Amino acid sequence: MIELISIGAELLTGQTVNTNGSFIAKTLAKRGFRVQRITTVSDEEKSLKEAVKGALSRAKIVITSGGLGPTGDDITRQVLANLFCRKLIFDPAVAKELKERYGQSLSTLEDQATVIEGATLIPNQTGTAVGFFIQENEQTVIVLPGYPPQMKEMLIEEVLPWLDRKMAPSYFEKTVFLSLISENGVDRELKRFEKICPDVEVGICPSRGVLAIYLKTEAASREEAERKWAPLLKHLQKMFEKHLFSTENREMGCALQKLMVLRKLTLATAESCTGGDLAARLTKISGSSAYFLAGLVAYSNQMKEKLLAVSSKTLQIHGAVSRETVEEMVEGALTVTGADFAIAVSGIAGPTGGTKEKPVGTVWGAIKQRGQRGFTGKIPIRKGWDRASIIEYSSTYLLSHLWRYLQWNLPPFGAS
Ligand code: ATP
Ligand code: MG
Repeated sequence: MIELISIGAELLTGQTVNTNGSFIAKTLAKRGFRVQRITTVSDEEKSLKEAVKGALSRAKIVITSGGLGPTGDDITRQVLANLFCRKLIFDPAVAKELKERYGQSLSTLEDQATVIEGATLIPNQTGTAVGFFIQENEQTVIVLPGYPPQMKEMLIEEVLPWLDRKMAPSYFEKTVFLSLISENGVDRELKRFEKICPDVEVGICPSRGVLAIYLKTEAASREEAERKWAPLLKHLQKMFEKHLFSTENREMGCALQKLMVLRKLTLATAESCTGGDLAARLTKISGSSAYFLAGLVAYSNQMKEKLLAVSSKTLQIHGAVSRETVEEMVEGALTVTGADFAIAVSGIAGPTGGTKEKPVGTVWGAIKQRGQRGFTGKIPIRKGWDRASIIEYSSTYLLSHLWRYLQWNLPPFGAS
């Protein structure tokens, strides 16, 4: 059993998101090691001590991150030394290495070359804080720095090989990603499959237009786990074929990119309310230049006219948030960029700006292939969603419809 402890006052105020916790848990899960609990504590002696003691009462292996720095608030080393009744000692070899790297000027040298007696050191290639394996009575506390790149390096270079030697993997996970489908629809279908693989646990997690289905099982190797969930996976792939876009990556843009590149198609976007989110989502993916030509953000009416040739009459009569406007936006994007496909979007992301006729969450989208019939529709935004959710959902929804059109020839904005 493995537990994690994330240390840092900034994690409790919400100033820093605990990405270390999720990174370590995810990395271990991929290797078949299950994390039982993640505790977050402040850099404060009493709570840190309690957290480590508590974790050691349940788990054989405890991994901590944070609080190894030279600043006064970093007390992890001190607290662990006290807890295991060990001394903190000056390590000349660590000091020499730090001196070589940073010169004599490193004022914190004394502190950073202080190590826990009897612990195995984990070298820090890029920073000053060394990590530790503290072993006692068949239990191990692995102490890593909080700075994410340094933590990651030590985890991958030192901790994973150590874990591989120390324990057999026992628990594996696989996720499949669906779009344009509701949680209820999936849940109902999954219940029918429960008997196919009784020793595979299934969970679903919806998030702004993407539904993740998790398959989890106990197994001695990934191959064995793959064999165990294969019948269920086959069923899922068949049952949800028009929705299942990936078994690896939750970003719809990746699935879309694969298809567009394969078919040698190009894409442009014309965005208003999403403010470039569509283009950003697509260009975050390496290789996007192979098919993505341009993302035009025409936020004001004037720019819709100027950049995308939307007529002032359309804007006057129907308004910027309308079927007619997105139809002209998508046409404009195709003309300006010469792309094979274009996506356009215009809506009211709120929280202000809504009217009785066009409340917050009214978002129109359009998808069109050059020279072909275009598709337009209202994006089904749920009441009460905040600005960020409306933007993210709208992007995912439009990308999903384009993906499904290309993959399955299903007209966008039709019945899901
Ligand atoms: P060093 O400062 O020498 O790298 P450290 O162990 O003392 O080592 P901290 O001072 O605790 O590290 O944190 C360094 C940086 O890493 C800070 O910016 C902090 O917000 C960030 N950090 C700490 N813990 C986490 C975490 N769990 N997830 C993401 N970022 C974290
Ligand atoms: Mg800290």
